[in-house]
Amino acid sequence: MNLLAYDREHVWHPYTSMTDPTPVRVVTGASGVRLRLDDGTELVDGMSSWWAAVHGYAVPELDAALRSVDLAHVMFGGLTHAPAVRLAERLVDLAPGGLERVFLADSGSVSVEVALKMALQWQRGRGRPGRTRMLTVRGGYHGDTFGAMSVCDPEGGMHAMWAGVLPEQLFAPRPPAPGGDVEGWAADVRRLAAEHRDEVAAVVVEPVLQGAGGMWVYDAACLRVLREVCDEHGFLLVCDEIATGFGRTGERWAADHAGVVPDVMCVGKALGGGYLTIAATLCTDEVGRGISASESGVLMHGPTFMGNALACTVALASLDLLDARDWRAQVARIGARLEAGLAGLPGVRTLGAVGVVQLDHPVDVVAATDAAASEGVWLRPFRDLVYAMPPFACSDDDVDRICRALRRAAEVA
Ligand SMILES: *Cc1c(COP(=O)(O)O)cnc(C)c1O
Repeated sequence: MNLLAYDREHVWHPYTSMTDPTPVRVVTGASGVRLRLDDGTELVDGMSSWWAAVHGYAVPELDAALRSVDLAHVMFGGLTHAPAVRLAERLVDLAPGGLERVFLADSGSVSVEVALKMALQWQRGRGRPGRTRMLTVRGGYHGDTFGAMSVCDPEGGMHAMWAGVLPEQLFAPRPPAPGGDVEGWAADVRRLAAEHRDEVAAVVVEPVLQGAGGMWVYDAACLRVLREVCDEHGFLLVCDEIATGFGRTGERWAADHAGVVPDVMCVGKALGGGYLTIAATLCTDEVGRGISASESGVLMHGPTFMGNALACTVALASLDLLDARDWRAQVARIGARLEAGLAGLPGVRTLGAVGVVQLDHPVDVVAATDAAASEGVWLRPFRDLVYAMPPFACSDDDVDRICRALRRAAEVA
């Protein structure tokens, strides 16, 4: 069978055309931080498979954990099991204080849907059923399902075509970069919040680093402003840590840069160690109780693969490995190396183990990807951005190679 030919005719890839798809490469295996292609080429993965594969591939500890399981999956309605309970316990321990109720979801987008539902049900439980809108900031990305899409950037994002279909949320301006005009921005946010206080259920944001909406880094003080606004008006603060959680930005949670604790937190991506799809929505005891006081008495959500035991098992092993390999030191080392390796390029920003080059024009994705591959690196640029978030397991040489690839890709893009 000719894989590429069948793929081209029948298989949809993310955000691609069925009639004019961009080229794909065939991966035959992966180990360490390298992807192996069908022509024998090896590429250092600069993307961690979309933020998820923090330890790289064929990780002995994760392989061993999966081989040891005696329960793959069982429905979570009316049944429970050790991997799910242990993972919930770990998440509660790792989360900022007070986030102690855990909903195990099967993908990041679903965990965002659950967070939105939590906010709506919580407001209903408090006798405020009119509070049905979300307040967010421009430049965000929260997933591809309809509720999540409604809080994505309405213009620059991928969902501009859905105007009129999605619930209309409230958008404050994009928060300023570190050192920018936080006061001016805060005044806009406070005005919007006060104007709509009786309609808003929650503020939903990616803390400090906005990912797929444009790789924007913003001043941590903005998150403190949002916390104050929520407290003042009785909104919940939902932090979407799906991309940023588990150390990627240099702190365990991106909200830690601001010393802010949300009422609801979404995690995903790296949670499954890059092996299996799993996410979670955590909330405070107060939110949990409020939802249970709403008219239904229950949180109205329950996906088929909720609490999947295989995914919980590999997530636990991955969390152990983050500590065993000292993620904080790994991220600091990679961050310093990215910063040095990209110094002098225009449009560079780095935070933790994330390196971004913003161009002054849309990227030629095929040319940029090929240029990176010719340096032995896998990158997947988008919009006007060439960027990397390497696996924490990358050696110094791997990171230097990634920097060379970013430079080459930025040149030809
Ligand atoms: C990727 C992402 C999501 C969606 O997660 P999926 O697992 O792709 O559904 C939500 N929020 C943020 C911040 C993300 O980066």
